[in-house]
Amino acid sequence: MPANDTALPIAVIGAGFSGTMAALHLLAALPGGRPVLLCERAEAFGRGLAYATKAPAHLLNLRAANMSAFSDRPHHFEAWLAGHAAEGVQRTPAGTFAPRGLYGRYLGELLRQAVTAEGRPRLHLVNDAVTDLEPVGGGFILRTEGGQAHRIDGAVLAAGNLAGPGEPRSRFRADPWHVDQAGRLHAHLPVLIVGTGLTMVDAVATLRERGYSGRIIAVSRRGLMPATHAPTEVRPAPNLTTRDLRSLPTLLRRIRHEVADAQAAGADWRGVLDGLRPITDFIWRSLPPAERARFLRHLRTFWDVHRHRMAPPSARAIADEVGRGSLTILAGRIRTITDAEAHAVVTVRPRGTERTVRLDVQCILDATGIGRVSETTDPLLRRLMARGLVRPGPFGLGLDASPDYRAHGTRGIGRLWTLGPLLRGVLWECIAVPDIRNQAAEVAALIAADLERTEAA
Ligand SMILES: Cc1cc2nc3c(=O)[nH]c(=O)nc-3n(C[C@H](O)[C@H](O)[C@H](O)COP(=O)(O)OP(=O)(O)OC[C@H]3O[C@@H](n4cnc5c(N)ncnc54)[C@H](O)[C@@H]3O)c2cc1C
Repeated sequence: MPANDTALPIAVIGAGFSGTMAALHLLAALPGGRPVLLCERAEAFGRGLAYATKAPAHLLNLRAANMSAFSDRPHHFEAWLAGHAAEGVQRTPAGTFAPRGLYGRYLGELLRQAVTAEGRPRLHLVNDAVTDLEPVGGGFILRTEGGQAHRIDGAVLAAGNLAGPGEPRSRFRADPWHVDQAGRLHAHLPVLIVGTGLTMVDAVATLRERGYSGRIIAVSRRGLMPATHAPTEVRPAPNLTTRDLRSLPTLLRRIRHEVADAQAAGADWRGVLDGLRPITDFIWRSLPPAERARFLRHLRTFWDVHRHRMAPPSARAIADEVGRGSLTILAGRIRTITDAEAHAVVTVRPRGTERTVRLDVQCILDATGIGRVSETTDPLLRRLMARGLVRPGPFGLGLDASPDYRAHGTRGIGRLWTLGPLLRGVLWECIAVPDIRNQAAEVAALIAADLERTEAA
């Protein structure tokens, strides 16, 4: 049914990849006339945390061939790259890896085309932080930090990767995404990075790009770094039985068999892992809650380092640093952090030992990853939780939601949908482009169907 001219907008909160794609799909799915508000607190739309970087060394961690914004047009990003001055694009035997900033430009262009599309523009960009959704009738009044108020029929929460818990506490702690805020760095004192995953890889590149030539020490409990992409053929997903899915050790044994079979056939373990991707969420939902908790406790780190891999040029840069001794990877636990006058004193207990190592560092970059909803200080999420519109989901990782992307709060289900990293816990494979692009199309279609049902009632 065509919406009339007074149809209230649907708002999308957050214009990273998730929000941008949800807005584009809503424009296509909603009946003509119904506007879409896309709200973003950062200066640039279509970037989010992942694609705001301008550093050429910050490469996509997926091949360009897997980064199309649209699942029904799998070569869309590659075609875009071919038509643009693709500075910094790295072609390797394992595939083509583009700088993440270039991907942000791609998303920005998709958005610009939608805003300037012929006819009456239906996409409205609100460059402000959303601070509250006040329930009114079946919809909300959306309020922003800058004092705007918009009456809306529903909202998609696409707030993405939450800031971490702000640990460790120290005057010398800095955000790995804003290393410039750490002030002047001196070559004679090391920089400590807490975490040895992909954020650490980025932080090392950022430090070098801004001219820091001193020593870097990266510490994590196991000292594991992400694996590297290699030429890989995706294997078919295994046919898992109910028995395989009953316990984590059984499942692990089954996957190890798959890897052994692949290797015996001359193939690579990566193809087995990549083959699991389409069924990862099915596996996650099928495992009993106690087994999922066990996975988070014991296997998550191993899964992450194999699943989220480095582009070969990034891996080479890290290996060179380690080889030169300018980057030390340390497996151990941080015991204490004490702020001295001009630096921090950090003590670490190396894994498997009882001794303590003292590190005098000028700056501590927290690269431990993304925050949990259950611990967030994000003002909007805290307010929505207080209103009972949302609540932490399984294991406190993301939000509680149903398979139709509806957020669940203590006061039930309203016209509030969510997607992307905020679904972590309900889903497992929900943080990368190939997963989010499907979610964005699905959530838009579900919202359109919901509005149509309400209008017909
Ligand atoms: C450093 C990094 C690199 C990555 N690299 C890749 C990669 O190479 N390939 C891949 O597939 N995936 C990658 N990912 C995974 C990434 O999570 C997804 O690709 C995707 O970018 C997630 O987008 P998002 O919009 O959900 O979240 P985000 O990128 O976090 O964006 C959320 C946006 O919402 C805005 N926002 C939040 N709250 C409000 C509010 N209250 N009001 C207004 N605006 C708000 C934020 O400012 C932000 O712009 C990477 C992730 C990170 C962190």
